[in-house]
Amino acid sequence: MKHFPIFVAVEGRRITLSGGGAAALAKLRLLLKTEAHLTVFSDDPAPEIVAWAEAGKLQLIRRRAQAGDALCAVLAYGANEDAAEDARFAALARADGALVNIVDNLEDSQFITPAIVDRDPVTVAIGTEGAAPVLARAIKADLEDRLPTGLGRLARIGKAFRKHADRLPMGRKRRDFWSAFYFNDGPQAIDTGGDQGAEDALHALLDRHLTARPAAGRVAFVGAGPGDPELLTLKARKALDGADVVIHDRLVSPEVLELVRREADLISVGKEGFGPSVSQDEINALMVDHAANGAHVVRLKSGDPTVFGRLDEEMDACEAAGIAFTIVPGITAASAAVANVGQSMTRRGRNSDMRLLTGHDVAGFADHDWQALARPGTVAAIYMAKRGARFLQGRLMMHGAAGETPVTIVENASRADERILSTTLSDLAADLADAKLTGPAVLLYGLAPRAALAALPDTIFRTDIKEAAL
Ligand code: SAH
Repeated sequence: MKHFPIFVAVEGRRITLSGGGAAALAKLRLLLKTEAHLTVFSDDPAPEIVAWAEAGKLQLIRRRAQAGDALCAVLAYGANEDAAEDARFAALARADGALVNIVDNLEDSQFITPAIVDRDPVTVAIGTEGAAPVLARAIKADLEDRLPTGLGRLARIGKAFRKHADRLPMGRKRRDFWSAFYFNDGPQAIDTGGDQGAEDALHALLDRHLTARPAAGRVAFVGAGPGDPELLTLKARKALDGADVVIHDRLVSPEVLELVRREADLISVGKEGFGPSVSQDEINALMVDHAANGAHVVRLKSGDPTVFGRLDEEMDACEAAGIAFTIVPGITAASAAVANVGQSMTRRGRNSDMRLLTGHDVAGFADHDWQALARPGTVAAIYMAKRGARFLQGRLMMHGAAGETPVTIVENASRADERILSTTLSDLAADLADAKLTGPAVLLYGLAPRAALAALPDTIFRTDIKEAAL
Protein backbone atom coordinates (compact mmCIF):
# COMPACT_ATOMS: atom_id res chain seq x y z
CA MET A 1 0.00 0.00 0.00
CA LYS A 2 1.67 3.21 -1.13
CA HIS A 3 -1.23 5.38 0.02
CA PHE A 4 -2.85 4.93 3.38
CA PRO A 5 -6.56 5.79 3.41
CA ILE A 6 -7.72 8.12 6.17
CA PHE A 7 -10.64 10.50 6.68
CA VAL A 8 -9.44 14.07 7.29
CA ALA A 9 -11.43 16.32 9.64
CA VAL A 10 -12.36 19.36 7.53
CA GLU A 11 -15.38 20.77 9.34
CA GLY A 12 -14.77 24.49 9.80
CA ARG A 13 -11.26 24.25 8.37
CA ARG A 14 -9.92 25.66 5.17
CA ILE A 15 -9.34 24.00 1.80
CA THR A 16 -7.78 26.10 -0.95
CA LEU A 17 -7.98 25.46 -4.65
CA SER A 18 -6.13 27.17 -7.46
CA GLY A 19 -7.81 27.14 -10.87
CA GLY A 20 -11.06 28.13 -12.53
CA GLY A 21 -11.68 25.68 -15.40
CA ALA A 22 -13.15 22.21 -15.84
CA ALA A 23 -10.74 20.45 -13.47
CA ALA A 24 -11.43 23.03 -10.76
CA LEU A 25 -15.18 22.61 -11.25
CA ALA A 26 -15.04 18.84 -10.94
CA LYS A 27 -13.07 19.03 -7.69
CA LEU A 28 -15.24 21.80 -6.28
CA ARG A 29 -18.43 19.80 -6.85
CA LEU A 30 -16.93 17.18 -4.57
CA LEU A 31 -15.51 19.63 -2.04
CA LEU A 32 -18.85 21.47 -1.76
CA LYS A 33 -20.24 18.35 -0.09
CA THR A 34 -17.89 18.92 2.83
CA GLU A 35 -18.26 21.36 5.70
CA ALA A 36 -14.91 22.96 4.99
CA HIS A 37 -14.40 26.68 4.14
CA LEU A 38 -13.39 26.73 0.49
CA THR A 39 -11.16 29.43 -0.98
CA VAL A 40 -10.66 29.50 -4.74
CA PHE A 41 -7.91 31.47 -6.47
CA SER A 42 -8.52 32.19 -10.14
CA ASP A 43 -8.17 35.20 -12.42
CA ASP A 44 -10.56 33.58 -14.89
CA PRO A 45 -13.22 31.62 -12.98
CA ALA A 46 -15.97 29.63 -14.71
CA PRO A 47 -19.48 31.11 -14.27
CA GLU A 48 -20.47 28.26 -11.90
CA ILE A 49 -17.67 29.26 -9.53
CA VAL A 50 -18.79 32.88 -9.63
CA ALA A 51 -22.34 31.77 -8.84
CA TRP A 52 -21.21 29.61 -5.91
CA ALA A 53 -19.23 32.56 -4.57
CA GLU A 54 -22.28 34.82 -4.88
CA ALA A 55 -24.38 32.23 -3.05
CA GLY A 56 -21.82 32.25 -0.21
CA LYS A 57 -20.77 28.65 -0.76
CA LEU A 58 -17.11 29.51 -1.25
CA GLN A 59 -14.78 32.45 -1.22
CA LEU A 60 -13.48 33.51 -4.65
CA ILE A 61 -10.28 35.53 -4.94
CA ARG A 62 -9.80 36.81 -8.48
CA ARG A 63 -6.07 36.54 -8.84
CA ARG A 64 -3.35 33.91 -8.92
CA ALA A 65 -2.40 32.40 -5.57
CA GLN A 66 0.52 33.89 -3.66
CA ALA A 67 2.76 32.84 -0.82
CA GLY A 68 0.75 32.80 2.40
CA ASP A 69 -2.56 32.10 0.67
CA ALA A 70 -2.61 28.51 1.92
CA LEU A 71 -1.72 29.34 5.52
CA CYS A 72 -4.01 27.44 7.90
CA ALA A 73 -5.40 25.33 5.05
CA VAL A 74 -5.55 21.59 5.63
CA LEU A 75 -5.63 20.69 1.96
CA ALA A 76 -4.65 22.52 -1.21
CA TYR A 77 -5.66 21.53 -4.72
CA GLY A 78 -3.75 22.58 -7.82
CA ALA A 79 -6.38 22.46 -10.55
CA ASN A 80 -4.99 24.92 -13.09
CA GLU A 81 -4.61 22.37 -15.91
CA ASP A 82 -1.23 24.03 -16.46
CA ALA A 83 1.82 22.13 -15.23
CA ALA A 84 3.93 25.22 -14.50
CA GLU A 85 1.19 27.06 -12.63
CA ASP A 86 0.28 23.91 -10.68
CA ALA A 87 3.93 23.41 -9.70
CA ARG A 88 4.19 27.03 -8.56
CA PHE A 89 1.00 26.69 -6.50
CA ALA A 90 2.09 23.34 -5.04
CA ALA A 91 5.41 24.79 -3.88
CA LEU A 92 3.83 27.77 -2.14
CA ALA A 93 1.01 25.74 -0.58
CA ARG A 94 3.49 23.18 0.73
CA ALA A 95 5.56 25.99 2.21
CA ASP A 96 2.38 27.19 3.93
CA GLY A 97 1.95 23.76 5.52
CA ALA A 98 -0.97 22.39 3.52
CA LEU A 99 -1.13 18.89 2.08
CA VAL A 100 -1.09 19.27 -1.69
CA ASN A 101 -2.85 17.47 -4.48
CA ILE A 102 -2.32 18.31 -8.12
CA VAL A 103 -5.17 17.14 -10.29
CA ASP A 104 -4.12 14.30 -12.60
CA ASN A 105 -0.56 14.34 -11.34
CA LEU A 106 -0.02 11.45 -8.97
CA GLU A 107 3.74 11.89 -8.86
CA ASP A 108 3.76 15.39 -7.40
CA SER A 109 0.74 14.95 -5.14
CA GLN A 110 1.03 14.32 -1.41
CA PHE A 111 -2.43 12.76 -1.29
CA ILE A 112 -4.98 11.51 -3.75
CA THR A 113 -8.73 11.94 -3.76
CA PRO A 114 -10.57 8.62 -3.89
CA ALA A 115 -13.74 7.80 -5.76
CA ILE A 116 -16.48 8.38 -3.22
CA VAL A 117 -19.82 6.76 -2.48
CA ASP A 118 -21.67 9.29 -0.37
CA ARG A 119 -24.27 8.10 2.11
CA ASP A 120 -23.27 10.74 4.62
CA PRO A 121 -22.32 9.98 7.39
CA VAL A 122 -21.44 6.66 5.76
CA THR A 123 -18.72 7.38 3.23
CA VAL A 124 -17.00 4.79 1.11
CA ALA A 125 -13.67 5.79 -0.40
CA ILE A 126 -12.22 3.76 -3.27
CA GLY A 127 -8.65 4.14 -4.40
CA THR A 128 -6.45 2.29 -6.85
CA GLU A 129 -3.28 4.38 -6.28
CA GLY A 130 -3.86 5.80 -9.74
CA ALA A 131 -3.46 2.37 -11.31
CA ALA A 132 -6.97 1.74 -12.55
CA PRO A 133 -9.46 4.61 -12.42
CA VAL A 134 -11.82 2.53 -14.56
CA LEU A 135 -11.88 -0.12 -11.88
CA ALA A 136 -12.54 2.47 -9.19
CA ARG A 137 -15.49 3.79 -11.19
CA ALA A 138 -16.88 0.28 -11.68
CA ILE A 139 -16.64 -0.47 -7.96
CA LYS A 140 -18.26 2.86 -7.19
CA ALA A 141 -21.15 2.17 -9.55
CA ASP A 142 -21.62 -1.25 -8.01
CA LEU A 143 -21.71 0.14 -4.47
CA GLU A 144 -24.04 2.98 -5.48
CA ASP A 145 -26.50 0.31 -6.60
CA ARG A 146 -26.04 -1.85 -3.56
CA LEU A 147 -26.15 0.63 -0.71
CA PRO A 148 -29.70 1.85 -0.13
CA THR A 149 -30.05 5.60 -0.23
CA GLY A 150 -31.74 5.46 3.21
CA LEU A 151 -28.52 4.17 4.75
CA GLY A 152 -27.23 7.64 5.58
CA ARG A 153 -30.48 8.56 7.31
CA LEU A 154 -30.39 5.36 9.33
CA ALA A 155 -26.80 6.00 10.38
CA ARG A 156 -27.61 9.57 11.43
CA ILE A 157 -30.57 8.41 13.51
CA GLY A 158 -28.40 5.66 14.97
CA LYS A 159 -25.65 8.11 15.83
CA ALA A 160 -28.00 10.29 17.87
CA PHE A 161 -29.08 7.18 19.77
CA ARG A 162 -25.60 6.00 20.72
CA LYS A 163 -25.80 7.38 24.24
CA HIS A 164 -28.88 5.25 24.97
CA ALA A 165 -27.30 2.15 23.47
CA ASP A 166 -24.34 2.61 25.82
CA ARG A 167 -26.57 1.13 28.50
CA LEU A 168 -25.85 -2.21 26.87
CA PRO A 169 -22.49 -3.73 27.84
CA MET A 170 -19.74 -3.12 25.33
CA GLY A 171 -18.86 -5.93 22.94
CA ARG A 172 -21.15 -8.53 21.52
CA LYS A 173 -24.37 -7.33 23.18
CA ARG A 174 -23.99 -3.82 21.86
CA ARG A 175 -22.92 -5.10 18.46
CA ASP A 176 -25.90 -7.42 18.19
CA PHE A 177 -28.16 -4.51 18.99
CA TRP A 178 -26.72 -2.34 16.25
CA SER A 179 -26.69 -5.04 13.62
CA ALA A 180 -30.31 -5.84 14.39
CA PHE A 181 -31.07 -2.14 13.84
CA TYR A 182 -29.13 -1.57 10.63
CA PHE A 183 -29.94 -4.83 8.94
CA ASN A 184 -33.36 -5.68 10.24
CA ASP A 185 -35.54 -3.40 12.30
CA GLY A 186 -34.15 -0.09 10.96
CA PRO A 187 -34.70 -0.55 7.22
CA GLN A 188 -38.21 -1.89 7.81
CA ALA A 189 -39.18 0.89 10.19
CA ILE A 190 -37.83 3.70 7.99
CA ASP A 191 -39.75 2.31 5.02
CA THR A 192 -43.07 2.31 6.80
CA GLY A 193 -42.72 5.03 9.43
CA GLY A 194 -39.95 7.33 8.16
CA ASP A 195 -37.42 8.88 10.56
CA GLN A 196 -39.87 8.77 13.47
CA GLY A 197 -40.54 5.10 12.78
CA ALA A 198 -36.82 4.35 12.89
CA GLU A 199 -36.43 6.20 16.18
CA ASP A 200 -39.35 4.30 17.72
CA ALA A 201 -37.85 1.06 16.48
CA LEU A 202 -34.59 1.91 18.25
CA HIS A 203 -36.33 2.37 21.59
CA ALA A 204 -38.32 -0.84 21.24
CA LEU A 205 -35.24 -2.76 20.16
CA LEU A 206 -33.18 -1.45 23.05
CA ASP A 207 -35.84 -2.52 25.55
CA ARG A 208 -35.81 -5.98 24.06
CA HIS A 209 -32.04 -6.23 24.20
CA LEU A 210 -31.78 -4.87 27.74
CA THR A 211 -34.09 -7.54 29.05
CA ALA A 212 -32.71 -10.45 26.98
CA ARG A 213 -30.87 -13.21 28.80
CA PRO A 214 -27.09 -13.12 28.38
CA ALA A 215 -25.91 -15.10 25.37
CA ALA A 216 -23.72 -18.08 26.05
CA GLY A 217 -20.32 -18.41 24.46
CA ARG A 218 -19.73 -21.11 21.89
CA VAL A 219 -17.15 -22.59 19.61
CA ALA A 220 -17.36 -23.11 15.86
CA PHE A 221 -14.79 -25.39 14.28
CA VAL A 222 -14.48 -23.81 10.88
CA GLY A 223 -12.76 -25.07 7.76
CA ALA A 224 -10.66 -22.31 6.20
CA GLY A 225 -10.11 -24.29 2.99
CA PRO A 226 -6.75 -24.71 1.31
CA GLY A 227 -5.93 -21.00 0.99
CA ASP A 228 -7.92 -19.34 -1.77
CA PRO A 229 -10.51 -17.21 0.10
CA GLU A 230 -13.04 -17.90 -2.65
CA LEU A 231 -13.05 -21.52 -1.55
CA LEU A 232 -14.50 -20.61 1.84
CA THR A 233 -18.08 -21.69 2.44
CA LEU A 234 -20.71 -19.02 3.03
CA LYS A 235 -21.08 -20.40 6.56
CA ALA A 236 -17.37 -19.92 7.16
CA ARG A 237 -17.63 -16.29 5.94
CA LYS A 238 -20.50 -15.71 8.34
CA ALA A 239 -18.62 -17.28 11.24
CA LEU A 240 -15.59 -15.06 10.54
CA ASP A 241 -17.87 -12.03 10.42
CA GLY A 242 -19.40 -12.77 13.80
CA ALA A 243 -16.38 -14.02 15.73
CA ASP A 244 -15.11 -12.43 18.93
CA VAL A 245 -12.02 -14.61 19.00
CA VAL A 246 -10.39 -16.49 16.14
CA ILE A 247 -7.85 -19.16 17.02
CA HIS A 248 -6.10 -20.25 13.85
CA ASP A 249 -3.42 -22.61 12.65
CA ARG A 250 -0.35 -21.49 10.78
CA LEU A 251 -1.60 -22.95 7.51
CA VAL A 252 -4.60 -20.64 7.32
CA SER A 253 -3.75 -18.20 4.52
CA PRO A 254 -3.36 -14.45 5.13
CA GLU A 255 -6.08 -13.82 2.53
CA VAL A 256 -8.56 -15.75 4.64
CA LEU A 257 -7.45 -14.03 7.85
CA GLU A 258 -8.12 -10.70 6.11
CA LEU A 259 -11.81 -11.59 6.24
CA VAL A 260 -11.95 -11.88 10.02
CA ARG A 261 -13.95 -9.13 11.70
CA ARG A 262 -11.56 -6.28 12.53
CA GLU A 263 -12.46 -6.17 16.21
CA ALA A 264 -11.95 -9.88 16.77
CA ASP A 265 -8.95 -11.17 18.71
CA LEU A 266 -6.75 -13.10 16.32
CA ILE A 267 -4.70 -15.78 18.02
CA SER A 268 -2.21 -17.85 16.09
CA VAL A 269 -1.44 -21.22 17.57
CA GLY A 270 1.16 -21.98 14.93
CA LYS A 271 0.14 -25.56 14.34
CA GLU A 272 0.93 -27.21 11.03
CA GLY A 273 -0.41 -30.71 10.95
CA PHE A 274 1.30 -32.52 13.77
CA GLY A 275 4.24 -30.11 13.87
CA PRO A 276 5.58 -28.43 17.02
CA SER A 277 3.62 -25.46 18.27
CA VAL A 278 1.45 -24.30 21.11
CA SER A 279 0.53 -27.54 22.90
CA GLN A 280 -2.86 -29.11 22.32
CA ASP A 281 -3.73 -28.59 25.98
CA GLU A 282 -2.99 -24.89 25.70
CA ILE A 283 -5.15 -24.63 22.58
CA ASN A 284 -8.02 -26.41 24.32
CA ALA A 285 -7.68 -24.12 27.33
CA LEU A 286 -7.65 -20.96 25.18
CA MET A 287 -10.75 -22.05 23.33
CA VAL A 288 -12.68 -23.12 26.39
CA ASP A 289 -11.74 -20.05 28.48
CA HIS A 290 -12.83 -17.58 25.84
CA ALA A 291 -16.11 -19.37 25.23
CA ALA A 292 -16.76 -19.66 28.98
CA ASN A 293 -16.48 -15.86 29.10
CA GLY A 294 -19.30 -15.58 26.59
CA ALA A 295 -17.22 -15.17 23.43
CA HIS A 296 -18.06 -16.60 20.05
CA VAL A 297 -14.89 -18.51 19.33
CA VAL A 298 -13.97 -19.59 15.83
CA ARG A 299 -11.42 -22.36 15.84
CA LEU A 300 -10.16 -21.90 12.31
CA LYS A 301 -8.39 -24.86 10.76
CA SER A 302 -6.89 -25.14 7.31
CA GLY A 303 -8.80 -27.23 4.80
CA ASP A 304 -11.51 -29.25 6.46
CA PRO A 305 -11.45 -29.33 10.26
CA THR A 306 -12.37 -33.01 10.27
CA VAL A 307 -9.26 -34.02 8.31
CA PHE A 308 -6.02 -34.43 10.29
CA GLY A 309 -7.00 -31.61 12.57
CA ARG A 310 -7.14 -33.26 16.02
CA LEU A 311 -10.74 -32.18 16.03
CA ASP A 312 -11.89 -34.91 18.41
CA GLU A 313 -9.59 -33.75 21.17
CA GLU A 314 -10.90 -30.22 20.85
CA MET A 315 -14.53 -31.35 20.76
CA ASP A 316 -13.90 -33.45 23.87
CA ALA A 317 -12.48 -30.39 25.63
CA CYS A 318 -15.60 -28.37 24.77
CA GLU A 319 -17.87 -31.14 25.89
CA ALA A 320 -16.03 -31.56 29.17
CA ALA A 321 -16.44 -27.83 29.83
CA GLY A 322 -20.11 -27.83 28.82
CA ILE A 323 -19.54 -25.57 25.84
CA ALA A 324 -21.70 -25.87 22.75
CA PHE A 325 -19.95 -26.28 19.43
CA THR A 326 -20.66 -26.65 15.73
CA ILE A 327 -18.55 -27.82 12.82
CA VAL A 328 -18.40 -25.95 9.54
CA PRO A 329 -16.77 -28.23 6.98
CA GLY A 330 -14.26 -26.88 4.52
CA ILE A 331 -12.55 -27.88 1.31
CA THR A 332 -9.73 -30.20 2.19
CA ALA A 333 -6.31 -29.88 0.52
CA ALA A 334 -6.86 -33.10 -1.45
CA SER A 335 -10.06 -31.76 -3.04
CA ALA A 336 -8.35 -28.58 -4.19
CA ALA A 337 -5.28 -30.48 -5.39
CA VAL A 338 -7.24 -33.04 -7.38
CA ALA A 339 -9.37 -30.32 -8.96
CA ASN A 340 -6.32 -28.32 -10.00
CA VAL A 341 -4.65 -31.26 -11.69
CA GLY A 342 -7.86 -31.89 -13.59
CA GLN A 343 -8.55 -35.31 -12.12
CA SER A 344 -11.41 -36.99 -10.38
CA MET A 345 -10.92 -38.58 -6.97
CA THR A 346 -12.77 -41.71 -7.96
CA ARG A 347 -13.31 -43.12 -11.41
CA ARG A 348 -15.35 -46.00 -12.72
CA GLY A 349 -13.11 -48.96 -13.50
CA ARG A 350 -10.06 -47.42 -11.82
CA ASN A 351 -10.68 -46.82 -8.14
CA SER A 352 -13.87 -47.06 -6.18
CA ASP A 353 -12.29 -45.81 -3.00
CA MET A 354 -9.99 -42.95 -2.17
CA ARG A 355 -7.88 -42.82 0.94
CA LEU A 356 -6.68 -39.83 2.85
CA LEU A 357 -3.44 -40.79 4.54
CA THR A 358 -0.93 -39.02 6.65
CA GLY A 359 2.74 -39.53 5.93
CA HIS A 360 3.61 -38.61 9.44
CA ASP A 361 1.79 -38.62 12.75
CA VAL A 362 2.55 -37.84 16.39
CA ALA A 363 4.43 -41.13 16.71
CA GLY A 364 6.63 -40.64 13.60
CA PHE A 365 6.22 -42.13 10.11
CA ALA A 366 2.72 -43.51 9.88
CA ASP A 367 2.06 -47.15 9.11
CA HIS A 368 -0.67 -48.16 6.69
CA ASP A 369 -2.12 -51.13 4.90
CA TRP A 370 0.75 -51.13 2.42
CA GLN A 371 -0.40 -54.22 0.63
CA ALA A 372 -3.74 -52.70 -0.26
CA LEU A 373 -2.11 -49.44 -1.25
CA ALA A 374 0.35 -51.20 -3.53
CA ARG A 375 -2.44 -52.68 -5.68
CA PRO A 376 -2.68 -51.23 -9.22
CA GLY A 377 -5.30 -48.53 -9.63
CA THR A 378 -5.13 -47.40 -5.98
CA VAL A 379 -5.54 -43.69 -5.41
CA ALA A 380 -4.63 -41.93 -2.18
CA ALA A 381 -4.05 -38.38 -1.06
CA ILE A 382 -1.12 -38.25 1.31
CA TYR A 383 -0.94 -35.33 3.72
CA MET A 384 2.14 -34.29 5.69
CA ALA A 385 4.30 -36.43 3.47
CA LYS A 386 7.27 -34.18 2.74
CA ARG A 387 9.46 -35.74 5.39
CA GLY A 388 8.12 -39.25 5.00
CA ALA A 389 8.37 -39.55 1.21
CA ARG A 390 11.35 -41.91 1.21
CA PHE A 391 9.71 -44.12 3.83
CA LEU A 392 6.44 -44.21 1.85
CA GLN A 393 8.24 -45.00 -1.36
CA GLY A 394 10.20 -47.83 0.27
CA ARG A 395 7.19 -49.40 1.94
CA LEU A 396 5.01 -49.24 -1.16
CA MET A 397 7.64 -50.71 -3.48
CA MET A 398 8.50 -53.39 -0.96
CA HIS A 399 4.86 -54.46 -1.09
CA GLY A 400 4.89 -54.66 -4.86
CA ALA A 401 3.75 -51.24 -6.08
CA ALA A 402 5.04 -50.49 -9.60
CA GLY A 403 7.84 -47.93 -9.84
CA GLU A 404 6.01 -46.15 -12.64
CA THR A 405 2.87 -45.52 -10.55
CA PRO A 406 2.16 -41.83 -11.07
CA VAL A 407 2.46 -39.45 -8.13
CA THR A 408 1.53 -35.79 -8.36
CA ILE A 409 2.79 -33.36 -5.76
CA VAL A 410 0.66 -30.28 -5.27
CA GLU A 411 2.27 -27.57 -3.20
CA ASN A 412 0.24 -24.58 -1.97
CA ALA A 413 -2.92 -25.92 -3.58
CA SER A 414 -5.32 -23.12 -4.61
CA ARG A 415 -2.89 -20.35 -3.64
CA ALA A 416 -1.24 -17.89 -5.99
CA ASP A 417 2.06 -19.78 -5.65
CA GLU A 418 0.61 -23.21 -6.32
CA ARG A 419 3.03 -25.69 -7.91
CA ILE A 420 2.21 -29.00 -9.49
CA LEU A 421 5.00 -31.54 -9.94
CA SER A 422 4.40 -34.76 -11.73
CA THR A 423 6.61 -37.75 -10.95
CA THR A 424 6.51 -41.51 -10.40
CA LEU A 425 6.83 -43.63 -7.30
CA SER A 426 10.42 -44.59 -8.10
CA ASP A 427 11.50 -40.96 -8.58
CA LEU A 428 9.39 -39.55 -5.76
CA ALA A 429 11.98 -39.08 -3.04
CA ALA A 430 14.62 -37.64 -5.40
CA ASP A 431 12.18 -35.32 -7.20
CA LEU A 432 10.74 -34.12 -3.93
CA ALA A 433 14.20 -33.31 -2.62
CA ASP A 434 15.04 -31.44 -5.86
CA ALA A 435 11.82 -29.45 -5.75
CA LYS A 436 12.77 -27.85 -2.40
CA LEU A 437 9.18 -27.30 -1.39
CA THR A 438 8.61 -24.56 1.13
CA GLY A 439 4.79 -24.61 1.37
CA PRO A 440 2.34 -27.29 2.46
CA ALA A 441 2.04 -30.10 -0.06
CA VAL A 442 -0.24 -33.00 -0.64
CA LEU A 443 0.77 -36.06 -2.69
CA LEU A 444 -1.72 -37.60 -5.04
CA TYR A 445 -0.64 -41.21 -5.22
CA GLY A 446 -1.89 -43.02 -8.34
CA LEU A 447 -2.86 -39.84 -10.20
CA ALA A 448 -1.03 -37.93 -12.94
CA PRO A 449 -2.17 -34.46 -14.00
CA ARG A 450 -4.68 -34.57 -16.81
CA ALA A 451 -2.66 -34.42 -20.02
CA ALA A 452 -4.64 -31.49 -21.42
CA LEU A 453 -3.58 -29.36 -18.46
CA ALA A 454 -0.05 -29.16 -19.74
CA ALA A 455 -1.31 -27.46 -22.89
CA LEU A 456 -3.05 -24.66 -21.02
CA PRO A 457 -1.25 -21.39 -20.41
CA ASP A 458 0.52 -21.11 -17.08
CA THR A 459 -1.50 -18.08 -16.16
CA ILE A 460 -4.63 -20.15 -15.84
CA PHE A 461 -3.36 -23.07 -13.84
CA ARG A 462 -0.03 -21.82 -12.47
CA THR A 463 1.48 -25.20 -13.17
CA ASP A 464 5.05 -26.26 -13.25
CA ILE A 465 4.43 -29.70 -14.63
CA LYS A 466 7.50 -31.67 -15.51
CA GLU A 467 7.04 -32.26 -19.20
CA ALA A 468 8.97 -35.51 -19.36
CA ALA A 469 6.50 -37.14 -17.02
CA LEU A 470 3.50 -36.33 -19.15
N1 SAH B 1 -7.27 -30.03 7.74
C1 SAH B 1 -6.35 -29.87 6.65
C2 SAH B 1 -5.12 -30.74 6.80
C3 SAH B 1 -4.25 -30.38 7.96
S1 SAH B 1 -2.81 -31.35 8.04
C4 SAH B 1 -7.08 -30.13 5.32
O1 SAH B 1 -8.21 -30.62 5.35
O2 SAH B 1 -6.54 -29.81 4.27
C5 SAH B 1 -1.64 -30.35 7.21
C6 SAH B 1 -1.32 -30.91 5.85
O3 SAH B 1 -2.35 -30.59 4.94
C7 SAH B 1 -0.07 -30.33 5.20
O4 SAH B 1 1.10 -30.97 5.67
C8 SAH B 1 -0.33 -30.63 3.75
O5 SAH B 1 -0.06 -31.99 3.46
C9 SAH B 1 -1.82 -30.42 3.66
N2 SAH B 1 -2.20 -29.10 3.17
C10 SAH B 1 -2.85 -28.13 3.84
N3 SAH B 1 -3.05 -27.06 3.04
C11 SAH B 1 -2.52 -27.35 1.84
C12 SAH B 1 -2.40 -26.68 0.60
N4 SAH B 1 -2.90 -25.43 0.43
N5 SAH B 1 -1.78 -27.29 -0.42
C13 SAH B 1 -1.29 -28.54 -0.27
N6 SAH B 1 -1.37 -29.23 0.87
C14 SAH B 1 -1.98 -28.66 1.91
